Amino acid sequence: MLKKNDHQTGIFSGSSKLSLTSAVPEELPRGRPQEKCGIFAVYGYRGPENAALVTYLGLLALQHRGQESAGIAFKEEGKIRAIKGMGMVDHVFSRRELSLIEADTVLGHVRYATAGPSIAVNAQPLLALSHDRTGMALAHNGNLTNTRKLHHRLLETGHIFHTTSDTEILLTYLFRFRRLGLVEAARKTMGIVQGAYSAVVLDHDRLVAFRDPNGFRPLVIGRLDGAYILASETAAFDLVGAEVVREVKPGEIISIGPEGLSSAGVQSGGEPSYCIFEYVYFARPDSVIDGSSVHLVRKKVGSLLAGRLSAKLDLVIPSPDSGVSAASGLAEALNLPLEWAIYRNPYLGRTFIKPGQETREMAVRLKFNPVTGLIRGKRVALVDDSLVRGTTARVLTALLRDSGAAEVHLGIASPPYKNPCYYGIDIPVPDELAALDENMDHLTASIGADSITFAEPEDLYEAVGKDRTELCTACFTGLYPTPGR
Ligand code: SF4
Repeated sequence: MLKKNDHQTGIFSGSSKLSLTSAVPEELPRGRPQEKCGIFAVYGYRGPENAALVTYLGLLALQHRGQESAGIAFKEEGKIRAIKGMGMVDHVFSRRELSLIEADTVLGHVRYATAGPSIAVNAQPLLALSHDRTGMALAHNGNLTNTRKLHHRLLETGHIFHTTSDTEILLTYLFRFRRLGLVEAARKTMGIVQGAYSAVVLDHDRLVAFRDPNGFRPLVIGRLDGAYILASETAAFDLVGAEVVREVKPGEIISIGPEGLSSAGVQSGGEPSYCIFEYVYFARPDSVIDGSSVHLVRKKVGSLLAGRLSAKLDLVIPSPDSGVSAASGLAEALNLPLEWAIYRNPYLGRTFIKPGQETREMAVRLKFNPVTGLIRGKRVALVDDSLVRGTTARVLTALLRDSGAAEVHLGIASPPYKNPCYYGIDIPVPDELAALDENMDHLTASIGADSITFAEPEDLYEAVGKDRTELCTACFTGLYPTPGR
């Protein structure tokens, strides 16, 4: 089995002994926007498993948020150590090795690179250590937006960067302010950095979690066997049997130590701007964000999409697996049969996905096969959660036509993507976005469908149950919630 790990040494330790292994997919599926990262941390766990194994399970549940690297940090004999590596959670950690870790407090991270390349040195948690290996470990989800300025400022004060990730900027400030205590260090750092960050930092005796004042990326508090848990999504709680306590509020600092959990207050500096695409696209459908079931939000968008489709239909088919929730809402609203009429071969994975458009389409074709008997002669709605490059929609539409579909109408459960994200989501470069062409006839012809219907922003607000002003919608409206992005 491929496995790399490393016990870190030195200040701002990276993982210099690590190298890319074939555990890392050759090419990640960048045809779809990618979430940046996932965080899972446990404090004071003394249950039947050990804290490292609980963290491993939590990271497995968050694997969809980052597949390029994974890592954990923990305190052992008063010193902070880490195990990190490139690739999926299962490749980075061995169960035997984890079972030997006695620490009751562990911080974990899965990474997808949006700021800084996918190299081992950027794998998180990042460590900042003194000569005696005391110090801190940091896990971060999001992108800072004043990285360039702060990078320059830190260079001028003599800082030598050990990674190419914006997370090192956060860590550098936290480490510089450490003598104030971790909570004050977080407060001071939050006054300097801008952009998107849900972060958890571990030092010799506590975990501190903090979330940017806009609350772009989620972060939830839970409890398990008397221990506290922090995770990017509630789906990770379900796997380890933890209960949800509440979300970390936008701008809030949470401190967990020997005395228990306390809130150190909410920092001002912005209005909540929750990323709407966490609900309709990125998070797992079995997660709950701010009290809303992700599956039910997507299903509701599908039901609202039903009112916008004008074609006469016989059948609703989800794009596997991303269109399932919305397709179920659409089929229910239109009182039509919902059929899994496209089989996705899960074993072809990413091996064949290469950057060129032609090979990308070949990869999609290799992955999907239609159930022809369900499709022949039918007017079908093919439903997906989004239209990014249009590769999958184009290939699936062709598959349905080749299988004898009388008509293929594409239903997209989000508005067209037109703008980049600066807050931690990797969206393909603008000229690759299918919906940049505002002419719907061109777009429909390029996909090969009979019609394309997008959800409107209002459908998403209604489904999420939040006002437009509480949400970031910049990637489809162009209205960015922070100045200078
Ligand atoms: S720009 Fe889009 S993906 Fe990025 S935070 Fe805003 S809504 Fe989310």
